[in-house]
Amino acid sequence: MKDINVINFFEDNSIKLSSNFNLGVTNLPSKLNFEQQISEIKNKKLHANMKFTFSKPEYSGLADKFSWAKSAILLTYNYKNKTQPSMLVSPGHGQIARFAEKDYYLPLKNKILEIEKVFENLNIKFHSFIDNPSHYDRTFFVSSGLGWQGKSTMMLTPGSGPWQLLATIYVDLNFVEDKNVNFSCGECNLCQISCPTGALDREYKLDSNKCISYWLQSPEIIPYEIRDAIGNKFYGCDDCLTSCPPGQENKINITFNEDQQVNLKEIIKSDDNKLLEKYYWFYIPKRNAEFLKRNAIIALGNNPDNNISDFLKNLYPELSTHLKIYVLWALFKSRNVDLCKQLIKTYDPGNQIILKEYEKLKEMISLVK
Ligand code: SF4
Ligand code: SF4
Repeated sequence: MKDINVINFFEDNSIKLSSNFNLGVTNLPSKLNFEQQISEIKNKKLHANMKFTFSKPEYSGLADKFSWAKSAILLTYNYKNKTQPSMLVSPGHGQIARFAEKDYYLPLKNKILEIEKVFENLNIKFHSFIDNPSHYDRTFFVSSGLGWQGKSTMMLTPGSGPWQLLATIYVDLNFVEDKNVNFSCGECNLCQISCPTGALDREYKLDSNKCISYWLQSPEIIPYEIRDAIGNKFYGCDDCLTSCPPGQENKINITFNEDQQVNLKEIIKSDDNKLLEKYYWFYIPKRNAEFLKRNAIIALGNNPDNNISDFLKNLYPELSTHLKIYVLWALFKSRNVDLCKQLIKTYDPGNQIILKEYEKLKEMISLVK
């Protein structure tokens, strides 16, 4: 049977793709296998403690997962804005990275559901992966002619750059394969220069141990040097994306975007359930709102307003030991050592974790004097 053009197939079945969507096809079996690549990252511990695709590289990195599948469709959703949000954030406020300002997976998930329904009705076997740790989402990106992997490790497409999310559908139908096109970053290294922590110092390799995005989603205690580098970021970091030329408009139109700026004190005082509901699309360890509050305390410590001390002082007694550790750090940042001493004496005279943290902070401050 002659291979089918996927665009014609979609049109014949009333699947409409807005200009945010892009797709490519790879014929199967493809003989592609990313197990070694994923394992290398894991063996060098560059993935930090991330599970995701790193749990079972032999399966997640395997392209030819299903013997019945004849094609893999890679569907991308481009969430690039025509405007560049202002990075100027008022004191006491924090930033949300552009990739997290909305649930950008939602339109992609809905489109995948629509396509699945068509396959179901036609009795065509399929299997989809979207934001799923069992499948390395970029597996068919290059082979489908959609673009290339940048030095930032993001997948880039001319016109949309790194601002895209990926989904894969394995299908028991022969679609016309797209051609692999030769693109590259060339001499550019702007993402490496823009990264505030050096997480991209080795091109094409992300060291998650240094990545702010990783740490703001991690349940572990955030190291001091990363806390400083976080600056006013409340959730996510996209310095390596905003700096990437293929993702930029010719004319830069800077706007103030409310979805990206949060009042940090309001976050810290929020009801946990309301906070989790508000940011339902964020990855939050164990769906525990405390981790978002931790991020907010760090951002507030780095971008304080003029009554941060009173605010943290009033807050301290009702916090968990985990959050108190960050409050002490934020107070040390504003050189409010006496207030730290007073809080510990009043509320935590026998709390060994707090006392140990206080000693570490004191030692650190003496080193920078
Ligand atoms: S997300 Fe931020 S910290 Fe992580 S690699 Fe990109 S610029 Fe660096
Ligand atoms: S900033 Fe430059 S080097 Fe980095 S991914 Fe984009 S094009 Fe490639």
